[in-house]
Amino acid sequence: MFYIKYGMYEEATLAVPITTENVFTKCNKCEREIKVDLEEILKDGDLTSTKLVCQECI
Ligand SMILES: [Zn+2]
Repeated sequence: MFYIKYGMYEEATLAVPITTENVFTKCNKCEREIKVDLEEILKDGDLTSTKLVCQECI
């Protein structure tokens, strides 16, 4: 299972299970927050190099 690690300090880190509902990124052009479908990203690319744009910027 993958986790989203959230927290400033190692000992205060929350382990959040990744679902199709809680993964977000910022639009590569306008910085608007957009929801991510990880399954779609992993079909075409990978998590480090994939840059997404929002509906406005397509
Ligand atoms: Zn945008």
